[in-house]
Amino acid sequence: MAKTAVSSSEQPYPNPCFYRSDAQHRSVQTTVFCDFDGPIVDVSDRYYSTYQQGLSEVKSIYEAEGEILPLVMLSKAQFWQMKQERTPDPEIALRSGLRGQQIERFLQRVRQIVNQPDLLHRDQLQPGVRWALSLLQARGMRLVLVTLRCQQQAESILQHYGLIQFFSEIYGSDNQQAAYFNQADHKTQLLKTAIASWQSSVRFPEAASAWMIGDTEADILAGQATDIPTIALTCGIRSQNYLQRFQPTHIHADLVAATHYLVKTQAIAA
Ligand SMILES: [Mg+2]
Repeated sequence: MAKTAVSSSEQPYPNPCFYRSDAQHRSVQTTVFCDFDGPIVDVSDRYYSTYQQGLSEVKSIYEAEGEILPLVMLSKAQFWQMKQERTPDPEIALRSGLRGQQIERFLQRVRQIVNQPDLLHRDQLQPGVRWALSLLQARGMRLVLVTLRCQQQAESILQHYGLIQFFSEIYGSDNQQAAYFNQADHKTQLLKTAIASWQSSVRFPEAASAWMIGDTEADILAGQATDIPTIALTCGIRSQNYLQRFQPTHIHADLVAATHYLVKTQAIAA
């Protein structure tokens, strides 16, 4: 089972029961389709550790063959800023001093180790996630997880943190590499399946609404392809500047801020 470290930085938030809805708030049934990596889990430590380990291993391989590589290890801030601007991995390798064949060896190694259990342990829950999910549920919103992580892995992590009960359904991938490659068409396909299931279960479509929340262009494009409004979060692997290019319906800092927005919107609609 993939375990991740419990974030000790989870801040105290008001009791979501404080926000428990009255009957009016339930007059519009809202379904929130939510991504996993980024909105719920912070993967930045794992991705940076994967980069460090991959670079060190390539350096050792060449040293064993008698060649000293003049490498420059990027700081976590430099590395994450490049990921947030969606800098291609070969360019990150180039900026780290790798050349030619060395780059391909590095990329191969990164793909091999990014899902290894010792690196998966570096993932942490984003601050306030439990509070946000509790509040969305308390307000009668239905939560559906749509992730390119392996379904079993996502379920194990949610189970581990006692968060699985917040989700009505979980749609994941059957491919370990899918989350790392984060392809929009794959995400769209998953979201379409989730939406088809949602539409078939809605008794009064005129009184139903849906949102897609995620941290990458794949989430925004998937929401747009299925005609549901999107909320892009900047706490994940893309910057605000980058996300803006895809014109999400709204941009918020994290799931807590998005939850405040959805609760306010629901109250206005009621
Ligand atoms: Mg994500």
